[in-house]
Amino acid sequence: MSMNSLKKYEDILEGISGGFFALDNQYRILYWNRAAEEGTKLLRDEVLGKHVFEVFPNAEHAEIGEMYRLAMKTRKFQTLESSYVDHRFEKWFDVRIYPNDGGISVFFQDITEQKREQRQKEMLMEVSHVINVAQHLDELCLNAGEQIAKFMDIPTKFVCIYRFDARSSLLHLMAPAITDVNINTEVLHQIVDVSTETIASQTTLKREVIITDELSKSTIAAQYLGEVEQHKLLSLISIPLIVQDEMQGILEVLSHKNVKYAGDDMQMLSVIANELSIGISRKRLMHEITVKNVELANEQKKTEEANETLKRFLATFSHELRAPLNAIVGFSDILTTDMEKIPKEKVKDFMKNINVSGRHLQALINDILDLSKIEAGRMELHVEAYPISYFVENVQRVLQAALDQKQVQLVFNIPDEVDNLVVDQMRFKQILVNLVSNAVKYSNKGGIVTINMRRIQYEIEVEVIDKGTGIKPEDMSRLFTAYRQGKNAYMADEGTGLGLMITKKLVELHGGKIWVESEWGKGSTFRFRIPIIVAGEIVESPDELTLIADTHRVVGSNGEQPLVLIIEDNPQAGQLVQAYLEEAGYKTEIARNGFEGLEKAKMLKPDVITLDMIMPVKDGWQVLKELKNHPLCAHIPIIIISITDDKKLGFSLGAVEYFVKPVSKNELLDTIGKISSRPLLRKKHPKVLVIDDDKSAAELVSVILESEGFDVMTALNGRRGIQLAMEEKPDLIILDLMMPDITGYTVAFQLKQEPETRNTPIIILTSHEVDEESKEQLQGFITGIMSKSRFTKRDLLREISTIEKMK
Ligand code: ADP
Repeated sequence: MSMNSLKKYEDILEGISGGFFALDNQYRILYWNRAAEEGTKLLRDEVLGKHVFEVFPNAEHAEIGEMYRLAMKTRKFQTLESSYVDHRFEKWFDVRIYPNDGGISVFFQDITEQKREQRQKEMLMEVSHVINVAQHLDELCLNAGEQIAKFMDIPTKFVCIYRFDARSSLLHLMAPAITDVNINTEVLHQIVDVSTETIASQTTLKREVIITDELSKSTIAAQYLGEVEQHKLLSLISIPLIVQDEMQGILEVLSHKNVKYAGDDMQMLSVIANELSIGISRKRLMHEITVKNVELANEQKKTEEANETLKRFLATFSHELRAPLNAIVGFSDILTTDMEKIPKEKVKDFMKNINVSGRHLQALINDILDLSKIEAGRMELHVEAYPISYFVENVQRVLQAALDQKQVQLVFNIPDEVDNLVVDQMRFKQILVNLVSNAVKYSNKGGIVTINMRRIQYEIEVEVIDKGTGIKPEDMSRLFTAYRQGKNAYMADEGTGLGLMITKKLVELHGGKIWVESEWGKGSTFRFRIPIIVAGEIVESPDELTLIADTHRVVGSNGEQPLVLIIEDNPQAGQLVQAYLEEAGYKTEIARNGFEGLEKAKMLKPDVITLDMIMPVKDGWQVLKELKNHPLCAHIPIIIISITDDKKLGFSLGAVEYFVKPVSKNELLDTIGKISSRPLLRKKHPKVLVIDDDKSAAELVSVILESEGFDVMTALNGRRGIQLAMEEKPDLIILDLMMPDITGYTVAFQLKQEPETRNTPIIILTSHEVDEESKEQLQGFITGIMSKSRFTKRDLLREISTIEKMK
């Protein structure tokens, strides 16, 4: 070839945009064009004459080296796309190799950019795929986290995805999975506020991308700094996930690049972040819809069940109701019209008949109301600790007349270990009285009814044994339904036939079960078991409390701080409990609803669980039941914290007792007896003020009290009540909650404001359960009364410290 034509070729080779070089058969570089210089930043003089593998050492054993050798050997054209990486480059090339006379010519084109775009597109598709196919939010976050880790070429654990809960201002870590990393609760649920230094929290506040090298403020990386260094990770990128102005969460990733260059990946990351935000918000919406649907379905089911109950009830009980009512109307008709003509003993007889029928009707209506309330899911239990002796005395007293009449004796066998019970006082009494009264009723004259109680692991078992008539095998299955043996004729002093059905439901509401063994002619044994809910002894002085908090070093099952799982849907309430517990040296974990509570209980196996009773979707009693039935959780002590405990609220208003109307004389006098140790009531004729708009109710109370030597005044509305209270300064006030002018809550509240009446004990007497509206009213009071929160705190610490002692 002439110099001229050579020059011409050279001009062409210099002019082309791609890199070109030529090798001789010794692989020495003979030619190196300008584009090759520009593309590699290696100058012609540096490379000419050198072995190609000396210049590109990492090519020798790579596919590209193989291709050079192949072309050299076979003298055939070769083409490939290949990456080349060493300390100077990280590039992709499209390479064409032409054999020539002495060696090979190589044309190469830098396709790094295209390759990157292509890879990014694939990644993006992969990310949006995993986001779209995920069933749950967790799955979505975990899978997306994995893809993003691949994209960034970092370990999965360094991709954090947080979900933001605006209600509680908490960031909840969704990815990486808790099982992949060892992290504490503060990281799992990170509070977002100005004082929190973490990058995630800052990003949420600023709603801006943060790129930083302060890895110590990262979520996970801060705890794995060794690994961070090993992987040469230099910076952290934190991206807010926002959809339509609403913060959904945070994506936090580590980058191999330093702060200056980390932004290079931003374009791509923001596309991923966008997909992720939309995915999260969609899943959230779907979750909300599911929850709503479940709630709706529950509501509907309840309504249907209630309707069903009503139908069954009407079919069964219209007769039952009518019979005593007829007796009352009939006898009282005679008495009011022909009184003079009837002999005196007959009058007394008739009156007795009316009384007995009235009582029967009352019992029947009470039972029906109880049942309908249970069936409609509206019966809430108010559990608290009561000494066992309280129930023993109560059963004995309530059934005294029946016992005397049948000369039956009650024998209680209760070991010392069963010293108190955490139950709903009224409902537990009802269970016991129902079972024992049946046992007495079906005992033979002069018989013995035995009541045994014992602790079986985490349950209390109660046995009620009689040696009376027993139950026929064919009747056994119907016992706990609306059923009565002598069901043909109405007899006024007979039971309602609903007792056992109610008893069963009440036992179940306490998370327990009931069953029976019986032999016809020999007697029956009714047994029930309820889970033990632990509560502590009463710590009176605040000093003792501090003592518990400060010196009681708490130790959990694994020798570390014990973990308390707080199941609470209200974030503020949850945080409050958490604060109390953490201050006292416990580790805590919050679950926001029943489902989450169960999941976390199984996964984390906490030492103690605190449980809120009123939660959406799955309420506390349901959760309690499931926890107690689950092999992994059955042993975990549970403390019930029901914020909307009407009774407690009532008490914190200053009430010493809380009744449901109609109140029995005995109960009323009993309570008054309890508080009569107060000096004021030791007077000869203590003054009592009855405030009630229901005239006959007020009269009834007056009659009862006057016969016991009280000096009774009545006020038929709230205003008058307050006025009388101020003027007369009674020693005791009996107060109705529902009154037309101002409610009992207001009255109680106002009386507490005035120095004259502040210390007057108040007994609340209400005709029905406190409804939602009034509950709110009570709540309103309570926020104004500081002692409530202190009370909760003390209560809580003391209960937990008792559990610790029991271990
Ligand atoms: P009641 O109010 O009529 O007693 P219960 O629901 O308490 O209704 O009881 C239903 C039926 O179960 C009773 O009518 C009786 O036939 C039977 N029963 C309950 N307890 C006993 C017992 N201890 N011994 C024999 N029969 C019993």
